[in-house]
Amino acid sequence: MRIHHLNCMTFYQGYREITHCLLVESPDGLVLVDSGLGLADYTHPAWRVKVMTAVDRVPCDLEETAFRQVQRLGFSPRDVRHIVLTHLHYDHSGGLPDFPWAKVHVFENEYQSAMHPRWYHFLDMFGVSPSHWAHNPDWVRHFEGWRDWYGMPALPVMGGDEPTILLVPLPGHTPGHCGVAVKSDSGWLLHCGDAFVRSMEVDPVAPRRHFPFWFWPIERVMFPARQQQRLRDLLRQHAGEVSLVCSHDPHVFDKLVSKSPQQ
Ligand SMILES: [Zn+2]
Repeated sequence: MRIHHLNCMTFYQGYREITHCLLVESPDGLVLVDSGLGLADYTHPAWRVKVMTAVDRVPCDLEETAFRQVQRLGFSPRDVRHIVLTHLHYDHSGGLPDFPWAKVHVFENEYQSAMHPRWYHFLDMFGVSPSHWAHNPDWVRHFEGWRDWYGMPALPVMGGDEPTILLVPLPGHTPGHCGVAVKSDSGWLLHCGDAFVRSMEVDPVAPRRHFPFWFWPIERVMFPARQQQRLRDLLRQHAGEVSLVCSHDPHVFDKLVSKSPQQ
């Protein structure tokens, strides 16, 4: 399957950050992995989105929406049949209303924690925007049919008996946060969402920490260290078979886009 790399939301928090989404050409139509911000987030944003885009200093650029980028690539937005989400934070779910006909695949734990947040997830009060699912999307909530994917428990999303897209739970950043594994023409790509923010953190030989935004260290200390260790082990054991990207690393994204002839 062919993968296009899209930045669906630039923002600034001391550095230029991007929001890396994938557009996959699959036999079942186009599949979007994460969706950045959507058209309505720029034209008439909900209050939580307004707060977060001000904090994140998001420039208003409708051309960065997945909707417009799908069109620029020569597809119809109607061709997007599936959206697979790493998690339900506002910077990943904003595109849902732009593709109301698409099936939206999510890990059951993530769905539950976003729809029925516990008090100790109060930080997500702002991170999650219910406006993104006010149109009542065609949810596909995954929780059964577990199988092994390179030593990690995973839930098949597409591809039948030989899954080509799977949800790989990497909880921490949110309670049901997942990576999304995609079988491409050149091996497996695991989109790790916000399990790390710079690839140097999961360098299997010499990992280094990245200290970016004022609010990150809180989540950092609480959660993702174990997931990052699992990802380093994955790279160590399966070098050459699996590569990783995350949502907000501009350097990896820029490299991938410069290699791609279309963008
Ligand atoms: Zn994010």
